[in-house]
Amino acid sequence: MKVLLVVSNIITAVTSEVDTSYYQQISGDDCHRRVGLEVDLECGIIHRLYTQSEIDLLLPNSSLTVINFPPGYCLLPGYIDCHVHLTIPTDNYQMQFLQTSSASNALTGLKNAQGLLHAGFTTLRSAGDADLFFPTVAIAKSIDRGEHVGPRIVGAGHYISVTGGGGDINSIAPDKCLCCPSDGLIADGKDAMLAAVRKEIKFGSDWIKILVTGAFMTSSTNAKDSPENTHFSIDELEICVQEAKRRRVPVMAHAHGADGIIMAAQSGVRSIEHASFIDQNGINACLKMGTWIVPTFLVGSYFEVNGSDSGAQDRMIEIQRRTNSRYYECISNAVKAGVKVALGSDFVGWDPAITAREFRHMVELGSMTNMQSIYAGTGSAADLLEMDKVGRIAPGKIADLVIVRGDPLVDISILESGVEFVMKGGLIVRDDLSIANDSSLRFMNISRQWYRPNYKLEETNICGDCVEQI
Ligand SMILES: [Zn+2]
Repeated sequence: MKVLLVVSNIITAVTSEVDTSYYQQISGDDCHRRVGLEVDLECGIIHRLYTQSEIDLLLPNSSLTVINFPPGYCLLPGYIDCHVHLTIPTDNYQMQFLQTSSASNALTGLKNAQGLLHAGFTTLRSAGDADLFFPTVAIAKSIDRGEHVGPRIVGAGHYISVTGGGGDINSIAPDKCLCCPSDGLIADGKDAMLAAVRKEIKFGSDWIKILVTGAFMTSSTNAKDSPENTHFSIDELEICVQEAKRRRVPVMAHAHGADGIIMAAQSGVRSIEHASFIDQNGINACLKMGTWIVPTFLVGSYFEVNGSDSGAQDRMIEIQRRTNSRYYECISNAVKAGVKVALGSDFVGWDPAITAREFRHMVELGSMTNMQSIYAGTGSAADLLEMDKVGRIAPGKIADLVIVRGDPLVDISILESGVEFVMKGGLIVRDDLSIANDSSLRFMNISRQWYRPNYKLEETNICGDCVEQI
């Protein structure tokens, strides 16, 4: 079944160039002029875009099912969050780590993933989870098998850290013993790093996440550590990147301090997470190596506003308050210099509905234009993830779509507050207006998810028309 989504505006990419000038708004101008997008629900593929005059010509004799939105709605690619932790809790991180099983974490993580999909995020990249038994990989595979509705998920099972680093957060005394005392994979030395990378890949990580510098949350028993300190040696970092590269797995590097950012970019990681104190040398290294930065503003602003009931995040909040203005200035400098940016919220279990606030933060705190921010959470993010079928609206792309009430080029906060319709791969997963309230349409969407197990977007599942588009 093919549908025609009719809206006032479509924000889309007209080419695959990594350049925001290639992103554009196709405007219907006013409530009488509309634009349309044809989607094949069975294949989950976008067929073509229509102007108002093309819609006028097409519709009288068309067999398309028309989903006609009221004036003032804008259609965008599904959002992509490149930095989420689906199973990490918002507040008392250490207690939950000790008290919850991996099975429990997987159930919570699935709920969070579904909440993010409902908020418009059709693709996520996991930045590692505080659970050594790969629950996020299990969630991703279960969604891919069609057992649960959810976003497509790629990323790392864990973060690799030095002893006492950001992946070794615990308050266990040195004479006490637990079988899994650390929340991340600990690797001290080149051999341990090699083993950690190989273990991640063996159990399903399609990214390697490495904590190159200290973290805002680094161990409370190591209060002198700082996010500005570099944790891994150059030898450890290089063997990580080389081993991952041999296996064709990209590396995402957590790095706050300027030295760690430069070292990570020069070693060939694909993205720098946070990049908080990036300086001119770091900017130059990112530009030279083609490295993305993923700034993650929301996690800081969330804890600054909401605090931490248990006190578990107090140290992080204190560092955040002390360094905020420098952080915003550093990211703004990188944006102005033309470093590639992808959106990442650093989601840690808050209400998923607020996650798209990261778009607004990128504008207000990172000196981006509204279009640059949208691009960071769609086309640029897809390029970072090397997923060329998502993040853009064009014939042959996967129909991952968000429809919002209002114009995000006028008010970027609409990407958080105005989401009323979400489609993932042709499956309608949110429809606040009940606008697609056609029984055959609903059957199509539900049946496709439940009666076609193993439906992944492979050519064998795609009709002749769609194959031509691809
Ligand atoms: Zn993170």
